[in-house]
Amino acid sequence: MNPSKRITLAIQSKGRLFDDSVSLLKASGLDFRFADGQLRSPVRNYPIDLIRVRNDDIPTLLEKQVVDIGIVGENTLIEKQVCNEGVEVLSKLNFGACELCIAVPEASAYSGPADLDGVRIATSYPNTLADFMRRNSIDYSAVQLSGSIEVAPGAGLADAVCDLVSTGGTLRANGLRAVETIATSEAVLACRRGGLELEQQKSVDRLIDRFNGVKQAQETKYIMLHAPTGAVEDIAAIIPSAETPTVLELSGGSSQVAVHAVCNEPVFWDTMETLRSKGATSILVLPIEKMLE
Ligand code: ATP
Repeated sequence: MNPSKRITLAIQSKGRLFDDSVSLLKASGLDFRFADGQLRSPVRNYPIDLIRVRNDDIPTLLEKQVVDIGIVGENTLIEKQVCNEGVEVLSKLNFGACELCIAVPEASAYSGPADLDGVRIATSYPNTLADFMRRNSIDYSAVQLSGSIEVAPGAGLADAVCDLVSTGGTLRANGLRAVETIATSEAVLACRRGGLELEQQKSVDRLIDRFNGVKQAQETKYIMLHAPTGAVEDIAAIIPSAETPTVLELSGGSSQVAVHAVCNEPVFWDTMETLRSKGATSILVLPIEKMLE
């Protein structure tokens, strides 16, 4: 392939999104390896070159067309306001979920955004915060910090914080509680609108298909069981399955059949117990490695 048709894909160099980004790319069949300290790696079996950069820099690199596509926290795109500058989200990736929240000390009373009037708020997300405050007509002052935001109230630097929350553990450990969610986020594949040649666009579309296949495979399970012939209808109705199950005869003239189905919902223990109570035996729930529809 003509080297100019290769695509540059940015991923976070290290941090919360790195491992999941690499796992998704590998599960999508991309063959690459970052040697120690190396920030670039060609993909050997796909027209993509990977580059490791700071998550925070990916929106600007996309906007300036230094990279073609990027796996980035959606909150960063919102904060850098690049979606108005032609950067678009191509696909949500099912990892890196978090919320941008305003949090106050546990003991503070809070009844709504009006309580934030005149408050000092520590944050690394001044633009997203300003947008929320503007929409709610609140006057406040932002204390811009680049990390360890949660310590600001205890240190007397701010009265509240606006930061990313996933489990809420860090907030609780610092005596804070979330009172407003101002944005939700997950890792996304983003691209500059209209920045790709036709051949490159086809490669990106193919990559998104593979990402969707990986996502679907993670969310689906394959269930196999034996059932008395007369109970198949009842049992099939209990299986959380997208499509009609496959029913197969067992050898030796058995009064049982094998039922196989792809389930698009989790198969919980209580579902398995209900299946058994209807006569199902040898119930197996298996992961699906790849899926293409
Ligand atoms: P970088 O230094 O690479 O610019 P960073 O210092 O923000 O980025 P991380 O803390 O690794 O790096 O966060 C990267 C992204 O992970 C965030 O922008 C967000 O999309 C996502 N994320 C998920 N959960 C959390 C969380 N609890 N706190 C912070 N980020 C989270």
